[in-house]
Amino acid sequence: MIYLDNNATTATDKKVLEEMLPFLSEEYANPSSMYDFAKKPASAIREARVKMRDFFGAKDEKEIFFTSCGSESANMAIKGVLNCNKEKRHIITTKVEHPCVLNTYKWFEKQGYEVDYIGVNAQGELNVDELKEKLRKDTALVSVMWANNETGVIHPVEEIAEYVKSKCPETRVFVDGVQAAGKIPMNVKDTKIDMVGVSGHKFHAPKGIGALYVKPDVRLTPLINGGHQERGMRAGTENVPYIVGMGKAAELAGVNMNHELTEVKRLRDKLEAGILQNVFNARLNTGITNRVPNTTNIGFEYVEGELILLHLSDIGVCASSGSACTSGSLEPSHVLRAMGIPFTALHGSIRFSLSRFTEEKDIDYVIKNMPIIMDKLTKISPFQSELEELRKRKGV
Ligand code: PLP
Repeated sequence: MIYLDNNATTATDKKVLEEMLPFLSEEYANPSSMYDFAKKPASAIREARVKMRDFFGAKDEKEIFFTSCGSESANMAIKGVLNCNKEKRHIITTKVEHPCVLNTYKWFEKQGYEVDYIGVNAQGELNVDELKEKLRKDTALVSVMWANNETGVIHPVEEIAEYVKSKCPETRVFVDGVQAAGKIPMNVKDTKIDMVGVSGHKFHAPKGIGALYVKPDVRLTPLINGGHQERGMRAGTENVPYIVGMGKAAELAGVNMNHELTEVKRLRDKLEAGILQNVFNARLNTGITNRVPNTTNIGFEYVEGELILLHLSDIGVCASSGSACTSGSLEPSHVLRAMGIPFTALHGSIRFSLSRFTEEKDIDYVIKNMPIIMDKLTKISPFQSELEELRKRKGV
């Protein structure tokens, strides 16, 4: 099996699992208990919080809150800020956010909030000027993802936060950092970003654990009320094994960052070049350099994406036709639509996302097999004259 769907989820690193195991068996004490038996889980949480502080590049571990996933982190940030500041009812976000962010704002729209959705250009880059124009004194929240899950495009969140704070210091800035975490360095203490959400399963921790970075002066209402855990901001007995696992995954992400930025990128670039050279109906949906190093999104013109995925699956390759949340539906991706990807490639767009566990032979295998799959699929495409035209244009 060749797994090239790491933006959907990643394999749990064996070193992460090893670190978790004691807390799934003998070290089962509730970390809030007073007896000695609870000391180990309590200190393991403290250590994990320090690791997460370093992962975010935050100043203090008190700025880190554990959650259950990226979606919860986003909801905690967005609802927490908006519920704390009910007079300001304007929000700015982008058209290409993940559904966990977009659908939260749709919900706020129903409550009477006004939301501006900023567009992107054909390469997936955010229209920052449009964002600047939309900023108002009553803007409660500006919310821009760090890296897009479908294209890997990195948005200039540091620059956006600088601008927002220079014009409207009270406006809060939330960044969905789920697809940036572990792929590019984060250094939140040197930025004006107020909150960043991440999800452990995107950087080799298991599913069911996430974190939210919150600058100390940000006031939030909790999403989950109850006990004192997470300093009253997120009640519920701590998920000790998963917190420990995410801490270890964060530490390993730091160790492997250079590999991610060089070797993973080299393999991604090789995959892109190999497919573009050998498959006449392939087009890169975005080729900009300012992308996370593991992601590519390629459109195969006049061919159905789901058919490509099934043929890839038949030869043991896992890829995706959109985000994990939109796969399973035949709706073309809202991200590619926002980029204005031509209809001819929209339905046949495939995302390949690599990880530090991707090997050269995996990439060679896909490069070798993609023309064979495409040969079969173009033969059964209903767009024969268009494909003939494309062949002529490409001289094949
Ligand atoms: N944000 C982005 C950019 C994502 O890609 C995802 C998951 O695909 C999420 C948020 C949601 O994360 P989780 O699945 O942990 O809730």
